[in-house]
Amino acid sequence: MNYLDCSMTEVVELLNSGKVTSQELVKLCFERIAETTDLNALNSTYFDMAMERAKQIDMARKNGEKLGCLAGVPIVIKDNINFLGTKTTCASKFLENFVSPYNATVAQKLFDEGAIIIAKANMDEFAMGSSSENSAFGPVKNPIDTYRVPGGSSGGSAATVKAKQCFASLGTDTGGSIREPSSFCGVVGIKPTYGRVSRYGVVAFASSLDQVGPLTRTVRDNAVLLNVISGRDEMDMTSSTTPVPDFTAKLEQGVKGIKIGVAKQFYTDKLSAEVRESLEKALAWYKSQGAELVEVDLPSLDTALAVYYIISSAEAASNLARFDGVKYGTRANNYQDIVDLYFKSRTQGFGKEVKRRIMLGNYVLSSGYYDAFYRKAKRVQKVIRKEFEDALSKCDVLISPTTATPAFKLGEKSNDHVAMYLTDIFTVPINIAGVPALSMPCGKNAEGLPIGMQIIGKHFDEQTIYQVANAFEQAHKEGV
Ligand code: GLN
Repeated sequence: MNYLDCSMTEVVELLNSGKVTSQELVKLCFERIAETTDLNALNSTYFDMAMERAKQIDMARKNGEKLGCLAGVPIVIKDNINFLGTKTTCASKFLENFVSPYNATVAQKLFDEGAIIIAKANMDEFAMGSSSENSAFGPVKNPIDTYRVPGGSSGGSAATVKAKQCFASLGTDTGGSIREPSSFCGVVGIKPTYGRVSRYGVVAFASSLDQVGPLTRTVRDNAVLLNVISGRDEMDMTSSTTPVPDFTAKLEQGVKGIKIGVAKQFYTDKLSAEVRESLEKALAWYKSQGAELVEVDLPSLDTALAVYYIISSAEAASNLARFDGVKYGTRANNYQDIVDLYFKSRTQGFGKEVKRRIMLGNYVLSSGYYDAFYRKAKRVQKVIRKEFEDALSKCDVLISPTTATPAFKLGEKSNDHVAMYLTDIFTVPINIAGVPALSMPCGKNAEGLPIGMQIIGKHFDEQTIYQVANAFEQAHKEGV
């Protein structure tokens, strides 16, 4: 038996029953990492630290001590999540040498449950991108076809799970950065409700949209991990006080009587034939299991992309102001005065896409344009949010494709920013509305590339999303 083929849940059982030790698992993961370095999925790895911790956990287990629910499980986190004493680069040259002085709440929660953080995952610089090609440390490759992108910005987090370098990972999602890579790499990823998970210690891109979420091989693993990282955090005033239910509680309840909303705006001519066919099949399967399909309307859906790029860039421009070579970031060497220092450090430190967002963000916030762009975008956001609430009042979940096509080729969209931005048309509306959504594999195209299905829930109802997702996964165990 190859332990790396196991789900996280299976491996927890094996650890608990003494069939495998955490040290063995850590070693296996690092062997796999060494075999698959060409994927460039990881920015830094911590073999010694991981082995030391695995040893402690194995010992504690032997001594019969009470252990956390992830005790001894190797996990990877995205390189924009602080973990004490490790580099947090956001895949930017600017933060190449930045070492975390403290733990993000999500990292602390993983640690407290005994997870072993073995590495940080590569990503698009400051989480801006849809292909993980915008990394200062080189692009990530898709483990299924290394000529293709893994999606972004959490491309490393998706690739590392698919390539079996670890048992689960954390990513972040501002406009699709967990779901799009999950779709392209054939793993399960959720963007929780805004406020479900603390953002403390996670480098901010667009603070009103950012959420952390798990990427896993199975739906159950995903629910278990979300249980661990969710909840109110005094260090993040935007984290919600809404109680956290057990996300695994309804997994086995099936979908009989569940109402699935289908909005025609998701099934436009932008959708490739192969994705449409897969989604139609999945919807037909749900119907055959007793779910009811209801038509719903999201008339403003296609405005979400413009709204997203205005709001997210405005917030990014503000958030990234702190990277100036003084407070944060590598300082340029030769400068004349303080303004020149800022100028040169930022010019040298930031990559092209990040600069583009900063310019766009400052433009839409500048006097004279603020009303025309930023304020208007915030007003349209309210409309979109209301439309989602209305649609979700008529059903339990909505189902849509995650992306219009499967993974594209490396370099295919690098020079066409609009084409790159358009890959997020189905995922950004979710962040704009603040609702939760999960992506899971629902089929493959003729070339064997995975196709992703997006299951969208009501605010704070991740439980029903998992119920609907698990039913599909269990019935398609042999692969979709
Ligand atoms: N691709 C989108 C962007 O570049 C979303 C990124 C994200 O979710 N972090 O903004």
